[in-house]
Amino acid sequence: MPQLKQTESVSFQEEATAGDARAGLLTINGIALDTPTFFPVLSFYGGGTDASVFGGGIHRTVKEFMLGDEAIGGGTYDQYFQGTMTSIAALTDYGINRERFEDYVSEPIKERDTFLAYDGLIFVDSGGYKFLHSDGLDGSDFEIDIDQREAFRIQKQLGGDIIVNLDRPITPSDTFEDRQKKAKLTAENAVEFARLTYDYPGARYLTVHGYNYSMLDRFFDHVQSRFGNIDIATLFDGIALGSLVPKKDNKETLITAVMDCREVMAERGLNDLPLHVLGIGSGSIPLLIAAGADTFDATTYLQNAINKKYAVNLTEHIPLDDVDFTQCDCPVCSTPMLVDRMQGNTEYQKDVLGPVAMHNLIVHTQEITELRQRIRQGGTDPLINYLDETVGRRDPIRKQTHRVVNQSLGGYF
Ligand SMILES: [Zn+2]
Repeated sequence: MPQLKQTESVSFQEEATAGDARAGLLTINGIALDTPTFFPVLSFYGGGTDASVFGGGIHRTVKEFMLGDEAIGGGTYDQYFQGTMTSIAALTDYGINRERFEDYVSEPIKERDTFLAYDGLIFVDSGGYKFLHSDGLDGSDFEIDIDQREAFRIQKQLGGDIIVNLDRPITPSDTFEDRQKKAKLTAENAVEFARLTYDYPGARYLTVHGYNYSMLDRFFDHVQSRFGNIDIATLFDGIALGSLVPKKDNKETLITAVMDCREVMAERGLNDLPLHVLGIGSGSIPLLIAAGADTFDATTYLQNAINKKYAVNLTEHIPLDDVDFTQCDCPVCSTPMLVDRMQGNTEYQKDVLGPVAMHNLIVHTQEITELRQRIRQGGTDPLINYLDETVGRRDPIRKQTHRVVNQSLGGYF
């Protein structure tokens, strides 16, 4: 298989394919991740101080798992946090003051004593989706305008291993003119981002926005026109497909966006770059992997836990009150103290729901590992069988499963 993207600190090696799906090895700053893979969204800084792992309610408990803290009974959960996603937009979610903000961004996350034990990859999003509605960060006694330079400054201070340009996501209600205006702004930022980050010790991803071929093709035209005759494949280490969160329940749109993005990437010589899908997790993941996506991030594992929903697999969740914990052999459900907490025998809600979030995350990791192995088995049958046995059994998704099998995996035989 060919060596794909290669810069000093970043490489992406394709190791196996099954139709449009691919399995590979993404190496950044000496840390290697098997793809496809999932980056759980995490607030490293959730309003608190080091005494509370910097707080964040359920985020705090998830961080305690990440670090194998005594608060959750210790243990080793590193393998579920090989890559994590955090956003500069989340830094002020908990109404902090200026002093605390400055402390949060005063040193790289992984160099801070509290997080020294963490050695996964951190993807730091620019937070464009949030700055769409306000121009910056609002703390309790301060505001910061966020432009491309400031966004990069914060990403760098946090020590992001993967960073993206500040973007202007589109919304389903945007007119054609709105979308072109946003594409121009995102393209301008991409040029400044490329200039600011030319010697950055990490991976630089370009955000792209569109729901289908013509939108994405036009978007890339805007970007390429800003870069003139410079080949953008030499400037970026990955593509991050955004603006899909408002469409998260529309599988047809998600699949089209990923299939068409891979097609546009191929036509523009960008197929050697990993394709990250921003903000999409759970039940969409198997079909999007089959359609050619490489990495994902989402808060769904947390959101489901907050709604007291426990994952049986990526597509099925059951109410926490109905769970038979003996049916799961994951490290959380195999620890009596944590099962006791999930059954409600503890004072704080975060201690009930934190272990549920961890279990939900483990289900993500296990299923994606299975999908990866199916891609590596050779041919498309193992992957087709997986889809048929899982998402293909569910009525609302069956039609989309057949479409992915026919269009991305060469069809049924
Ligand atoms: Zn479990």
